[in-house]
Amino acid sequence: MDLETVLEIIREKNIESVRFQICDLNGIMRGRAAILGNIEKALDRGLTMNMGTMDFTSFDQFAFGNKYGVQSEDFTITPDFNTFSVLPYASKSARVLCDLYTHDGKEWECCPRLMLKRLVKNYHELGYFPQVGFETEYYVLEELEDGTYAPANYAEKEGHGLIFAMSGQDEWEEFYRTYCKTLVQMGIDATVVTKEGGPAQMEVNIHHYPPVKAADNQITFMDVARELARQFGYRATFLPKPFQHLFGSGMHVHLSLYDLDGKNLFYDPNDPKGYNLSEKMYYFMNGLLKHANAITAVGACTVNSYKRLLPHTWSPVNNTWGINNRSTLIRIPLDAKEQSMRLEFRSPDPSCNVYLVLAAILACGLKGIEEETEPPEPIQEDASDLSEEELTHRDAAMLPRTLFEALEDLKKDKVIKEAFGTTIFEEFIKVKMTEWITYREYVTDWERRMYMRTF
Ligand code: GLU
Ligand code: MG
Repeated sequence: MDLETVLEIIREKNIESVRFQICDLNGIMRGRAAILGNIEKALDRGLTMNMGTMDFTSFDQFAFGNKYGVQSEDFTITPDFNTFSVLPYASKSARVLCDLYTHDGKEWECCPRLMLKRLVKNYHELGYFPQVGFETEYYVLEELEDGTYAPANYAEKEGHGLIFAMSGQDEWEEFYRTYCKTLVQMGIDATVVTKEGGPAQMEVNIHHYPPVKAADNQITFMDVARELARQFGYRATFLPKPFQHLFGSGMHVHLSLYDLDGKNLFYDPNDPKGYNLSEKMYYFMNGLLKHANAITAVGACTVNSYKRLLPHTWSPVNNTWGINNRSTLIRIPLDAKEQSMRLEFRSPDPSCNVYLVLAAILACGLKGIEEETEPPEPIQEDASDLSEEELTHRDAAMLPRTLFEALEDLKKDKVIKEAFGTTIFEEFIKVKMTEWITYREYVTDWERRMYMRTF
């Protein structure tokens, strides 16, 4: 799409406000809106924002040691017209996703979307064309009288909390139908809706795409879910573990690799191991396994993320792989035929920046292809049950157990540092370490309840 086409749509649909959206290091959608007479100029020249925006934590606190702050200059948010879309749920409004440039028109080193685009270009130069599909889970909540939130329609009705149970579907019908229809209107083909393991926990499957488009779709998918849930009187939360006793919400990343002619490079019917996996797939996978902790730091990057990654919760706790095994970090879906042969990377959750996690996965996978090393044998039992000794024996290890541990591993990861560039890499770690420190120093009700009487 070019500027003229966009302006035509704006005139035709009588659009009065265009949201210029960007994704910060946390994955939070930030931006500005151009209104009425200013829309054309803003689309043509972009809008500006302060560089300090990229050094905020998820709770809008400046990262300790931040490179950018109130004294920093502005960057330009430049619309990518291909992402222009009228918002079916907001009156006379449209949105466009933006890339970040410096005031003199150079790609800004702290733009996650441009960084991912550059990495994908490297792939193309090597003749590799990745495809990505996200499988995202989230809870739909309702506000209770005391101001707290609980899974919607759950508290007072039995049966609706059952794993994958369709009971209670009628209460959801209108919400999820409108939700999926809205996504389709915005060009995102939502196909299957699953009532996930938790009460009022949903999963919506969307089609796979090249990485940048898949990431664009993903942030749109989350934005629309939040907005529509609000319009239906609910609240959508992508927090990885909103409730201690209920299933967490993951954001599994499905990835496959094709050549220019569309041949799936992860598939090989002559695999001597009998899994139909190509050498490239094994090498790629081993790249991910070797960098599992650091990728996990990027994809599971809130304090809360590590309360999801627990044994026997269908989420991974160690850097293992398996055929159709939902307890391992990497799952090879059993149903994957020649063209759909892919791997599923399971530690990320939807509280991350999708551009960053894809870049981390693609960089480490490519490193694996370069290094040509084979992964250990697949794990076919429940990987949660493996002790640390058994893991060592099988050439595997535990994933980080806290955000702090994960970030310490990320700090040492040269492959991800090179892919991100020093600025994104360092500012991301600062932002997330600030969240960790803020949490570590916070005295909670749990401590008062459990310790106060004793000490
Ligand atoms: N909810 C699980 C997670 O946190 C995943 C369940 C599934 O396999 O779909 O990753
Ligand atoms: Mg699921």
